[in-house]
Amino acid sequence: KRYLSKVFGISSDMRSTTFLTLAFLVQIGVAWIHAPQQGLHSRQKSFLFAEINVDVCVIGSGISGSCLAHYLTHDDGDKAPRVLMAEARAQVGGNVISRKNDQGFIWEEGPNSFQPTPTVMRTAYEAGIADELVFANPTLPPWVFWEGKLKPLPKNLPGDLFNFDLLTWPGKIRAGLGACGLFCPPPPEDKEETIEEFVTRHLGRECFERIIDPFVSGVYAGDPAKLSMRSSLRKIFRLQTLSFFNGALVPGALIRFQEIAKEKEQNPPDPKWPTYKPGELGSFREGLQTLPNAIAHNLKQNGHRVETEWKLKSLMPPSQHNDWSVIFDTPNGSITVFAKAIVCTAPAHAIGNIIKPLDNDAATALDKVYYPPVASVTVAYPKSSFKMPDLPGFGNLNPRSQNIRTLGTIWSSSLFPNRCPPEYNLLLNYIGGSRDVAIADLTPEQILQQVDTGCRATLLKPDAPPPKLLGLKLWPKAIPQYELRHQPDILDKLDQFESKFPGCYLGGNYRTGVAFGDCVQFGLDQANTIRSYLDNLSLSSTVQQSTTSDVTENEMVPTSR
Ligand SMILES: Cc1cc2nc3c(=O)[nH]c(=O)nc-3n(C[C@H](O)[C@H](O)[C@H](O)COP(=O)(O)OP(=O)(O)OC[C@H]3O[C@@H](n4cnc5c(N)ncnc54)[C@H](O)[C@@H]3O)c2cc1C
Repeated sequence: KRYLSKVFGISSDMRSTTFLTLAFLVQIGVAWIHAPQQGLHSRQKSFLFAEINVDVCVIGSGISGSCLAHYLTHDDGDKAPRVLMAEARAQVGGNVISRKNDQGFIWEEGPNSFQPTPTVMRTAYEAGIADELVFANPTLPPWVFWEGKLKPLPKNLPGDLFNFDLLTWPGKIRAGLGACGLFCPPPPEDKEETIEEFVTRHLGRECFERIIDPFVSGVYAGDPAKLSMRSSLRKIFRLQTLSFFNGALVPGALIRFQEIAKEKEQNPPDPKWPTYKPGELGSFREGLQTLPNAIAHNLKQNGHRVETEWKLKSLMPPSQHNDWSVIFDTPNGSITVFAKAIVCTAPAHAIGNIIKPLDNDAATALDKVYYPPVASVTVAYPKSSFKMPDLPGFGNLNPRSQNIRTLGTIWSSSLFPNRCPPEYNLLLNYIGGSRDVAIADLTPEQILQQVDTGCRATLLKPDAPPPKLLGLKLWPKAIPQYELRHQPDILDKLDQFESKFPGCYLGGNYRTGVAFGDCVQFGLDQANTIRSYLDNLSLSSTVQQSTTSDVTENEMVPTSR
């Protein structure tokens, strides 16, 4: 630069541009001179033609994509596959968005907590954020708003059953008899049951209406009359299969406990991983986004690539060379990544169009996955304006029959420490879902008004001041619904796609479970699948090479003689 300005008298503001232009021309020259002899080195290639070569390209940086990238790269040093994780948005984390402000509020715009599992603990430990974990007090009950009152769900069974007045005595007896198998009609033959049908058959109508219906609305934003029991609540559905008495849930649960104990014995969690108590909910001090942020940081530190604002545009299967071509729209134009394996963890609705040219059936299956709209609204009110100022629970669910539009309210400041200044209670409200899609047509002011009305009906004193609004986010396509025929119409089609197109995987919360913990588990399981795919690929290419060289030697024998 100094040379340019002295010799040519170029002014300081022109220097940088001129220098960059010259550097670019020199790079082209070097690449051009080398190209015919030895082919372009991949870095020059990517500079000139925006091409990048990696082993695995992970599309989407939500919990599924981030955890997959983590498990592909962690602990293997130089042997780890080279990974590029590409994300359409400007930040990593997908649905997981944690916010804070300078007044001491920390809140979530997507999921609010996770149920700890050994795999979630392992991931937090390996990502270096075990110290950041926070757990909610496991004795905090969820509450249900019923006939004008909040009623806690029992946490200690059977003791709490006597004080628990959300169910009537006939309702409790029906649920108890059903759960033990003393009164539990058999499942219908050749018919997939909805959550509503399954729960009503096992536990009775009252238990369904007052507990399970609000739970399904609050957690899945779904309609239990449409959701498949087998696909949506797989673990509970399986209890029926395990059960040794009339397909009832309690005998099934006893068998499951034995299974869990055996699994733990055979595969004990590493003592270095953080521990947790049953029933605890978890998060991180500064919110759930701590996890994807830490993973992205570690990936970059270890020489892998994390690219934001890279939107997948198209995929091309391997032709002459072995690699898939993955084309992205980026702020720097179109960029092609060549990868031995690709995993799309973007939502089903974002992938259907992209794989349509490859497989119309799989594309149609992806387009069928329904995602209803949900708004998440975080508000704070002074503690003094609450009927129960200490909010002793983790939140309240509002059954649809009770005419409160909010599906459920998480009492964020009761769950985790330091979420707001001590004089406030912080509430995260979810509103909308598949039985209230009109939420997407409301203005933010109208949504806030609905939320405030719900809080006043359930939690606040009549003279409570207006809410302090911290965050309001409308998710137009929030949570994938596992409706009836999810298995044959969607999952089977995706299995067929993957066997037709080796090296291209589709996954995420529409396939292996929507809970945060399911997405972490997907990351671990999928990483194992990809590793064995890559191992087989390199094995078969070694075999191919040695066969080719054998043939060449044999063919050369007469000539050399
Ligand atoms: C409002 C809400 C509340 C929830 N609450 C809870 C909760 O409390 N507890 C719980 O366990 N679970 C909860 N869930 C569910 C859970 O958060 C999600 O299932 C999980 O975070 C999904 O992770 P994912 O990586 O599979 O998908 P996503 O988070 O959707 O990630 C997919 C990523 O792909 C990116 N992408 C899309 N298109 C492209 C493209 N063309 N190119 C590149 N990238 C692309 C997206 O930008 C996104 O970052 C909630 C979900 C929502 C929406």
